[in-house]
Amino acid sequence: MYEDVILIIGAMKDVELDVLLNKLELRNVVEEKSCTFYEGNLLNNNVVICHANVGIINAATATTLGIMKYNPKLIWVEGTAGGHAEIVHKGDIVVSTGIINLNSFRTGCLGKNEGSDPFSWELKRYGHLPQDVESIVVAASEKLIELAKSVENEFVINNPSSKVHYGIIGSGDAWNKEADLIKHYSAKYQTLCEEMESAAVFQIARNYDIPVIAIRSISNNEIHGEVYERELGQKAQEYVLYMLKNKKEK
Ligand code: SAH
Repeated sequence: MYEDVILIIGAMKDVELDVLLNKLELRNVVEEKSCTFYEGNLLNNNVVICHANVGIINAATATTLGIMKYNPKLIWVEGTAGGHAEIVHKGDIVVSTGIINLNSFRTGCLGKNEGSDPFSWELKRYGHLPQDVESIVVAASEKLIELAKSVENEFVINNPSSKVHYGIIGSGDAWNKEADLIKHYSAKYQTLCEEMESAAVFQIARNYDIPVIAIRSISNNEIHGEVYERELGQKAQEYVLYMLKNKKEK
């Protein structure tokens, strides 16, 4: 068992983990049914990189198994995301201050033949801890947000066309391509972007009191007509590398 492990979770190996895996000094590989754990050393940190596959259920499986196997001191989830806010463009980075689950809601009351009104659905947080009813946002670790802020300048100097944003990430088993729905989420819940894993990772990490953060690079933005570009998955990984480097220097 390795000590002080940072568990780094990504959904797609070729898009979201290739840069990190190339740099990893690999010690061991553990394959599970829906995910694979790569144990090793990355920039003098003990890390386990988890290829989780896409979506909330795979992310929940990976996070739970990762906690049981490695008792990680930190959990980072990284990868691509679709922009929600007007200010967010392809190639930008979004650092989570918190996550909301876009699949967790209560509908309004409509009778037969009255149709459906997704814009009136209220997002809810169905957790089991007292704080779960206080806010629908699952917060990221303040210390990890500080670490992410500390590398922003270095990242932007090397990626001058990218901006770094801090805010809420929406997460769920959906790829939303309806501009009005995206704008609705962004206006009502201040989402900066959406992806398909962090809702599970955050809720489980919080249950186990493990500091958690999500780093996402924007690969598409439907409201600006910016189409998906999988190569942009590299940027979130670069950001994570700066965080790993800076972490040891501190
Ligand atoms: N067609 C892509 C697969 C993308 S699947 C390919 O073959 O490369 C969606 C994955 O990208 C999820 O893991 C999710 O976290 C992320 N993602 C990127 N943009 C997204 C968006 N607009 N909505 C939802 N998830 C998005």
